[in-house]
Amino acid sequence: MKKEWGLGTRSVQGGYEPKAGEPRVLPLYQSTTYKYDDVDQVARLFDLEENGHMYSRISNPTVAALEEKVNMLEGGVGALATSSGQAASTLALLNICGAGSHVIAISTLYGGTYNLFAVTLKKIGIEVTFVDPELSAEEIEKHFCVNTRAIFTESIGNPGLNVLDFEKFAQIAKAKDVPLIVDNTFPTPYLCRPFEHGANIVIHSTTKYIDGHASSVGGIIVDGGNFNWNTGKYPEITEPDPSYHGLSYTETFGDAAYIVKARVTLMRDYGSCMSPFNAYLTNIGLETLHLRMERHSENTLKLAEFLEKHENVAWVNYPGLENHPSYALAQKYLPKGASGVLTFGVKGGYEAGKKFMNSLKLAALVVHVADVRSSVLHPASMTHRQLTEEQQIACGITPDLIRVSVGIEDIEDIIKDFDQALK
Ligand SMILES: *Cc1c(COP(=O)(O)O)cnc(C)c1O
Repeated sequence: MKKEWGLGTRSVQGGYEPKAGEPRVLPLYQSTTYKYDDVDQVARLFDLEENGHMYSRISNPTVAALEEKVNMLEGGVGALATSSGQAASTLALLNICGAGSHVIAISTLYGGTYNLFAVTLKKIGIEVTFVDPELSAEEIEKHFCVNTRAIFTESIGNPGLNVLDFEKFAQIAKAKDVPLIVDNTFPTPYLCRPFEHGANIVIHSTTKYIDGHASSVGGIIVDGGNFNWNTGKYPEITEPDPSYHGLSYTETFGDAAYIVKARVTLMRDYGSCMSPFNAYLTNIGLETLHLRMERHSENTLKLAEFLEKHENVAWVNYPGLENHPSYALAQKYLPKGASGVLTFGVKGGYEAGKKFMNSLKLAALVVHVADVRSSVLHPASMTHRQLTEEQQIACGITPDLIRVSVGIEDIEDIIKDFDQALK
């Protein structure tokens, strides 16, 4: 029955099923540890022969319920919650990469992911080649080497708002026998389910729409269970692991090998786990995902259409608009809506952009996207101010660019606020 549940029902009820007399609402298990009566049982838990919670760095019942809910929404075989979206990206790669590995990533990634790949992973010997996502499959395949372990992409780019050509990237991943990893933060599984389009691993910053209320930083990795690791290229997953008495993850855990390994080795060793309290809050936020994503998308399209016609607006970028270069891809992969972020330019450049932002009353100036409250960011004077104008333009940031995260307030009030500030 649960497999047939719609995405809204999964958001509301997935991941937690109380038995008679148990709390109706997912409880907050604020406990680091778990009690056992029998020494042999604890030994079996340590040897991964039996399932159960031992210590909250590895697993916790509140966190586990959130993991199962997101897993159900994405349609995967298992999920691992992390302390942030950055931790999810890091662990997703470290699970199959080490010094000497190579990764292909699209060049339009979120800035935090770009830094992680270009600077920090490089320091530990993982090389990342950034490719323009507009290149043909043939041109992208030229960048593969014998040690290429994964392709890392985003379903909607931040802040470019380009929509991923899933078909092209899934074909490349298949041809090259590497997993396709998709950061699905902006659409969420309500608007886009990457496993249905050939992705193998999905990651999220749950800080954004999954929580949706800007209350908790977090991340999650979901395993599609649809990649064949048995090609000789991923010995850390298929060969005996000495830290678990020579167990092979693919032999013992089958389709869920990747995500079990991430938990029992990387979460054990690096410890970047989600706190039970953040999982508790994130789960409450997630209960309304389907309602919020509909309203975010609807409001953003209406605001984009209003801005397009405004005399003080130079340009508008939203994949839900027919003139957007990603419009056809958005229709194909985001049929229920193109999510809640748009960018636009104010006529008059940098100074006009600053004046506009200072004049807003409803939308707040914050370094964040994807919560119920409308907010704006001016990258040229805020997040990207250390870069020269040429460097900013190379990142797709013009002096007049304003990024808007459209909330779920009444659209009439949002439009009124933008109109008065533009005037
Ligand atoms: C915010 C964000 C991240 C990083 O997530 P944190 O929770 O802030 O660590 C990764 N990818 C995308 C697309 C994001 O928007």
